[in-house]
Amino acid sequence: MSVITYIGLGSNLGDSQQILREAVHQLRQLGAVKVSKLYHSPPMGPQDQPHYHNAVAQLVTDLAPLALLDELQRIENESGRVRLRRWGERTLDLDLLLYAEKNIINERLNVPHIGILERDFVVIPLLDLDSKLEVNGQSLQNLELVQHSTLTVLADTHWADIEPVEG
Ligand code: ATP
Ligand code: CA
Ligand code: CA
Repeated sequence: MSVITYIGLGSNLGDSQQILREAVHQLRQLGAVKVSKLYHSPPMGPQDQPHYHNAVAQLVTDLAPLALLDELQRIENESGRVRLRRWGERTLDLDLLLYAEKNIINERLNVPHIGILERDFVVIPLLDLDSKLEVNGQSLQNLELVQHSTLTVLADTHWADIEPVEG
């Protein structure tokens, strides 16, 4: 049975736009994908690292939650994921933000993803995909941080339309 899921994408090492485009291409193998605009955002955690490229993808998939997490981690690893320190710079980060309306808590997976309501680089792109979206009964568009966004728009929702060139 297909469910609506949302995946957060981030990168601040390498050619981030190209890395995120390839990640979206990989997600398309798992189901139907729509993407948010592409954003630039200041880093969370250590401040002596580059800004991030961030976006969110809506993925309609048949995969069960842990099977989907396996695929996300495989895509991260295949992108040559490099990660230097906690919340530090990385080539690709894929977080499972929402899985239908499910609440999941286990040692590998917390859904809704932790911090979702405090992170503008997640909330703003989620609103691109569904302006009425709610998380645990909280309407995202009413969150205070929407009025004080630190994000810059880099590209509209067509940024991932072009198929990436392999290599
Ligand atoms: P944050 O989770 O605060 O955004 P991070 O993305 O830097 O930090 P990672 O090192 O990418 O953290 O992930 C650490 C672990 O988080 C993963 O091994 C994974 O098992 C676990 N995890 C728990 N819930 C989720 C989720 N919803 N999506 C992705 N990973 C999750
Ligand atoms: Ca993350
Ligand atoms: Ca992660």
